[in-house]
Amino acid sequence: MRKRRAESFAEAVERLAARPTRPRRVRAGRRGDSWADPSGVAYTLVDDGLRPSVALALAAQGARVVYDACGCGGVECELDWLSGAEVATLASRGRPPIVRSSEDGRADLEHWRSEEGGDLVVAAVDVSWGDRIPR
Ligand SMILES: [Zn+2]
Repeated sequence: MRKRRAESFAEAVERLAARPTRPRRVRAGRRGDSWADPSGVAYTLVDDGLRPSVALALAAQGARVVYDACGCGGVECELDWLSGAEVATLASRGRPPIVRSSEDGRADLEHWRSEEGGDLVVAAVDVSWGDRIPR
């Protein structure tokens, strides 16, 4: 068996630099083609025309729900992340969100999914849901 030579400083630097970097923790919100929740989980778009009844079903399955009141995706203002208990309450009432599309208004209901299979429902601007959205 060959004896291992001690690693030089230059070699150690090279080895560390070559190590795959861990996924960077991103600020919660939309960043181009992905969303990140407050715990740093990233989601990619599944459906940008999510039907309210499906949104309700996702909530009943424990999806994360975020309300983006202005539609900036959290770039300019703080997003309203519902707690798990709040999502469970909405789901238990059995009423889907209401998407109000006015003439020049904006209302988005979207389904996003993480690599691990977690679901995220994004409700933006003119969407209401029970007594929780908008707060
Ligand atoms: Zn905003």
